[in-house]
Amino acid sequence: MSLIVQKFGGTSVADPEKIRAAARRAIRAQKQGHRVVMVVSAMGKQTDELLRLASAVSDKPPAREMDMLLSTGEQTSVALVAMAIDDLGAKAVSLTGGQFGMKTDNSYSKARIRSIDTGRIEKHLDEGHIVVAAGFQGIDDDLNITTLGRGGSDTTAVALAAVLGADACEINTDVDGVYTTDPRLLPEARRVDVISYDEMLELASLGAGVMHSRSIEFAKKFGVPIHVRSSFSDRDGTMIVAQPESESSPVSGAALTKDEARITVLGVPDVPGISQTVFSAIAEKKVAVDMVVQNIGVEGKADVSFTVPGDELELTLSALDSIMEKIGATGLTHDADVSKVSVVGLGMASQKSVAARMFRALGDAGVNIHMITTSEIKISALVPRDQAATALRAVHEAFELHERPADAKTWAAIQADSSREADVDDVVARLQNDALEALTLTGISIVEGQARVTLDGVPDQVGVAADMFEEIGRAGIFVDMIIQGYDGVDGSTSVSFTIHDNDLDAGLKVAKSICEAHSMRDVRGAAGITKLSVSGIGLRSHTQVGTVLFEQLADAKINVEMIATSELQVNVVIDSKRGDDAKKCLQAAFADALG
Ligand code: ADP
Ligand code: ASP
Ligand code: MG
Repeated sequence: MSLIVQKFGGTSVADPEKIRAAARRAIRAQKQGHRVVMVVSAMGKQTDELLRLASAVSDKPPAREMDMLLSTGEQTSVALVAMAIDDLGAKAVSLTGGQFGMKTDNSYSKARIRSIDTGRIEKHLDEGHIVVAAGFQGIDDDLNITTLGRGGSDTTAVALAAVLGADACEINTDVDGVYTTDPRLLPEARRVDVISYDEMLELASLGAGVMHSRSIEFAKKFGVPIHVRSSFSDRDGTMIVAQPESESSPVSGAALTKDEARITVLGVPDVPGISQTVFSAIAEKKVAVDMVVQNIGVEGKADVSFTVPGDELELTLSALDSIMEKIGATGLTHDADVSKVSVVGLGMASQKSVAARMFRALGDAGVNIHMITTSEIKISALVPRDQAATALRAVHEAFELHERPADAKTWAAIQADSSREADVDDVVARLQNDALEALTLTGISIVEGQARVTLDGVPDQVGVAADMFEEIGRAGIFVDMIIQGYDGVDGSTSVSFTIHDNDLDAGLKVAKSICEAHSMRDVRGAAGITKLSVSGIGLRSHTQVGTVLFEQLADAKINVEMIATSELQVNVVIDSKRGDDAKKCLQAAFADALG
C-alpha cells in the first residue's frame, strides 16, 4: 500500500476552518488507499508570537528554554488536526517529535536530525490511523526538546518521507508552487512545473523561503521527489526532482536575502592559516558564512570580507572580537544595510557571459555592486538594501524568467521520471547509520591549467563590473570564478577572476585596456594555478567543511588565493605546485564523509 507524507505549513492550519480543510485533504488521500502521515507546523504566526513573548520576559532567553517554548506551537496544532480528523469520522493520532522518535543533536534552535525510529508511526499506520506528526522538533540524547531552525517542518516532512520510503512527499503551502522568485516580492514571477534539487537547494539557501534548505539536502540524498502545492486548491504545483526544467536556460531562478551583513577584517597578514582562524571562530557559532572574498595581498597584508545573515551579525562580531589580536588584524568594519541578490541555474556552468548579463542588468538599473562571488551554478551580488527590490526585478527581467523556456518539460514527462531515483539498496544502507543529516561529500577534485587575473583600484561605481565582463566576453574568453572584494581603505575594490591558462595573455591585454579606460590602479596576472573543489550536499550549512579545509591547507602551508562556496561545492584557488598535496590531505581529512 502506498504511503504519502503531507506537510501543512502555518498558513494552511491558521484557523479552525483551515485545520478542518487540511484534515479533509488527508482523509481523502486515505480513502484513495494511501497510508497517510501528516507533518504540521504551528498555526499561523504562532512561532513569531512565542518568540515575542520570550523576548518580553528575558533579554537573553536560554537556548534550551526557547526550544521548549517554540515546540509548543506544533504540539498545539497536531492535537487540533487530530481532533478535526476524529470529528470528520476517521482515525488519527498526534505525535510530538520525541514521541515518534525524532532524535537530534543538542544544538538548540539549529538541531540536526540523527535518527528517526519509524516503529511507532508504522504501528499506528497499520492500525488505520492517520499519523499527525509535529514538524520542526526533536529530542536529544538527554530527552531535551530541540528545534530544527525556522521553517524546519519542511525538513521533518522530507526526512520522514525518506525513512518511511514514502511514495510521495507533498508540501502544502500558501503558494501554488515554486516560482522563479518570491511572488510576494515580484508579481511577474512565474510558477515552474519542475525545478532540480541542486537549483532549489541553492535558491533556498540564498533566500527563497518557500522551502527549508535542509529539506532539499535530504531529498537529494535520499532521492525523494517533492511536490510543492497549494493547500487551498487541487491544482498540480511544482515537482522538485533531479532534473531541471530546461536544458538551455542559463538561469532558472533568482533570490534575495534582504537582511545580509558584510564584515571586513582589515590588514590580516597574508600567510596560510589566518583564514582558518577567522572562519573556525565563526563556524564554532554555527553561523553560515557566504560571499567570502580575500583581496589578493599586497605588501603581505590582505583584507578578508564575507557576509553573514543580518540577524547573526552581532554573534559573528563577538566571535571575531576574541581573535583579532591573535591574528594581528588592524581593524574590522561592517555594513548592516546590504542585501544579496543571486541568480541560480544549472545551465550557467556551460555558457559564456552569464555574469556579464547580470552585471549589465544591475548597472542599467542604477544599482551599485559592492561585492561579487560566483560558483558553478550561482552568481551573487551584494547591493545596497534600499536598491534590493530594483536589483531583483532587473535580474529577473534580464534573464526573461517570466517566460516559459521553449524546451521546458511537460508535467507528464516530469511525473514519468520523478519516481524515487536513488538506488533503494543504497538508500537503505545510508539510512542505517545514526547520522541522517551528517555531512555527505561526493568528491574532491582538482582542475589544473588555470590562470588568475586581478584588477586593483576598481572604482566602486555603477556599471563598472558590467563594462569589464562584457569586454572580456567580447574577447571570447571563458571566465570561471569571479570575486569582487571590498576595500575598506580607499573606497575602491579589487576584482579577480579565473580563466584558462591559454587565455592569460589575451585576458591580461583586455584587463589592461579596462584598467586604463576606468583609471584603475593596477593589473596583475598569475599562471599555474589550480582549482581545488570539495563537492557534496549542503556544504554551506555544514560549517565544518570550510573549517577543516582551511585547517588542512594551513597545516600543509598551502596558501589560498581565492575562495568560492556554494551548497554543492567549496572551491579554492591555490598554486598548481601544491595541487596534489592539497587533494591528498583533504581526502584523508574527509575520509569519513566521503564514505
Ligand atoms: P509555510 O508556512 O507553508 O511553510 P512559508 O511562508 O514558509 O510557508 O513559504 C511560502 C512562502 O514562500 C510564499 O508565500 C512566498 O512568499 C515565499 N517564497 C519565497 N520564495 C519563493 C519562491 N521562489 N517560490 C514560491 N514562494 C516563495
Ligand atoms: N513553526 C516553525 C516556524 O515558524 C517551523 C515551520 O513552520 O516550519 O519557523
Ligand atoms: Mg515554511
